[in-house]
Amino acid sequence: MLQDKEIKELEKKLIDAKKSIEKQLSKFATKDKTIEDNYRTEFPDIGNQADENAQEITEYEQNISLEHSLEDELKLINKALDKIKSNKFGRCEICGQEIPYERLKIRPQAVMCVSCKSKNEASL
Ligand SMILES: [Zn+2]
Repeated sequence: MLQDKEIKELEKKLIDAKKSIEKQLSKFATKDKTIEDNYRTEFPDIGNQADENAQEITEYEQNISLEHSLEDELKLINKALDKIKSNKFGRCEICGQEIPYERLKIRPQAVMCVSCKSKNEASL
């Protein structure tokens, strides 16, 4: 079982990670007010020359893929924070086993234990 102290520590890590992701997202995207944890990438305005337009498109596409991966991460973090509140934190979503503190220390938003994760990745 995770100790209260350990959970507190992991909660702090999650909140810090959440802040840092929101900060990264705010650099190029705006928060969608209607959907929770959803951001919209803004189209960059570099200039009106053809090469500048091309650069805008490249940047936009890169930002969108970055936006999606940051959003996924944010969702996992919020899910983990919810689980802390409802005392369900630290269990593998697949097999229900406790996820060891050593693993959560590295990745507190982990939803699967190492063995389920490797099985899951192998099946993809
Ligand atoms: Zn598992």
